[in-house]
Amino acid sequence: MLEIPESINISIQANNTLISKKIVKVHPATSQHKFAFYCGDPKEYLKLLTGRQIKSTKGHGMFVDIYCDENICITIGEGTNMRYYSPSEQRPEKHQLLIEFNDSSYVAYTVAMYGGIWVYKGVFDNPYYQGSLNSISPLDDTFNELYFDNIFKNTTKDISIKALLATEQRIPGLGNGVLQDILFNSCVHPKRKKSTITDFQKAELFHSLKVTLNKMTEMGGRDTEKDLFGQFGGYKTILSKNTLKNPCPNCGNVIVKEAYLGGAVYFCPTCQPLK
Ligand SMILES: [Zn+2]
Repeated sequence: MLEIPESINISIQANNTLISKKIVKVHPATSQHKFAFYCGDPKEYLKLLTGRQIKSTKGHGMFVDIYCDENICITIGEGTNMRYYSPSEQRPEKHQLLIEFNDSSYVAYTVAMYGGIWVYKGVFDNPYYQGSLNSISPLDDTFNELYFDNIFKNTTKDISIKALLATEQRIPGLGNGVLQDILFNSCVHPKRKKSTITDFQKAELFHSLKVTLNKMTEMGGRDTEKDLFGQFGGYKTILSKNTLKNPCPNCGNVIVKEAYLGGAVYFCPTCQPLK
């Protein structure tokens, strides 16, 4: 799943790899996917994209935008995988969209569980997309303690910390994935109620959010997610499906996995007490 570290990293990789390439062929989906989302009829993508040149890229929230000339843009979100293949690499058999460039390289888009591949001219009016585009990124200096305090203030007192940070797109691109290490590093349980968080802990949370997300981004995304070249990111997750069997790196106790608010949460009950 694309979250802030991955969308930024894939956008940088795409910028270094795809700029000025020209799209010569567009191959539609090899198999229908019930939860692959498109803008209008994906058959139109052939017309929109053929002959276009890649101009720039942008990663924000859980989206990656590839801007072409003629005001055409390709946007992917959350569950969509975008993978580059050099001319010498075998191109994938299964994809939801495949773009071929003038130098015989490719970009293949695949959707695992669900995801969007949106190609459009001009503005994409999806509210989540616009929310992401127009919000302040936690990687930005203007996402400061005051900004964070306001996010806290604008929620009810009974809300849990996971719900506050990683739902409703209050912080676009901060999803259930990156949340786990942010909470571990600040010793906060995902189900902790906002009303039980002291000012000191809130400051710790803010600090952890900034430091953890910056580290994940600088290291090329998390080791649970793949980049533009099909490689896992360089950031070693502390709490994820990769580390569930390991003891807590702080205290050595067993890490717990629970389903909570539409996604698995991982935590150390000793280091991240509920109260
Ligand atoms: Zn622990």
